[in-house]
Amino acid sequence: MACTADTLAAALRAAAAVIAEHRAELVDLDRAIGDADHGENMDRGFTAIVSALDTATPETPAAVAKLAATTLISKVGGAAGPLYGTAFLRASVKLGDAAEVDGPLLVEALRAALEGVQARGKAVGGDATMVDALIPALSAAEEASGSDVAAILAAAADAADKGAESTVDLVPRKGRASYLGERAKGHMDPGARSTALLLRAFAEAAK
Ligand code: ADP
Ligand code: MG
Ligand code: MG
Repeated sequence: MACTADTLAAALRAAAAVIAEHRAELVDLDRAIGDADHGENMDRGFTAIVSALDTATPETPAAVAKLAATTLISKVGGAAGPLYGTAFLRASVKLGDAAEVDGPLLVEALRAALEGVQARGKAVGGDATMVDALIPALSAAEEASGSDVAAILAAAADAADKGAESTVDLVPRKGRASYLGERAKGHMDPGARSTALLLRAFAEAAK
């Protein structure tokens, strides 16, 4: 199944529900090594995306992604809003005027999203950020690129889960958690966790 504007909008609504469900978990992760607002930030942003989708009907997948991007950038302060906003914006540019997103285009959009996050935040793999979920997600998506969109997203979500898990043993080198240095070890990065949650929500919605 290819992804249309409607299915992408439905996936974002599903993602908003998942983020709302995991709000407290994301707050707790951020309390351990940051400022305890990641769950609130994400919930505010995705609730605003749902409101925006209630009042506008973007006609292409790119327009849906752009609406998500501008909403996150304008409604979410802190590090994650602009980073996720950039991810959706770069993905939107890559989607162009396509009416449907097939497997190969999805992989290109994911690559653009990762590149956007890295251009904006300058984090590399191993810095204990959302990039540690996105890099393995993209690799898995590339390997599955001959499959359909749902299978690609499922592979990406599985890899993102493992990537998020890997941040537990890392010393953060970007964002607030880096202020703690070695003391941040033993905790999962909240942004890596939210990336894994988003990809899982998209994968489930694409089934
Ligand atoms: P803030 O840290 O401003 O309170 P959030 O708590 O919403 O913002 O988001 C924190 C998350 O943002 C971190 O867990 C990490 O995954 C991500 N992050 C922070 N800085 C960077 C960066 N430079 N590059 C990539 N991700 C980052
Ligand atoms: Mg925070
Ligand atoms: Mg904050």
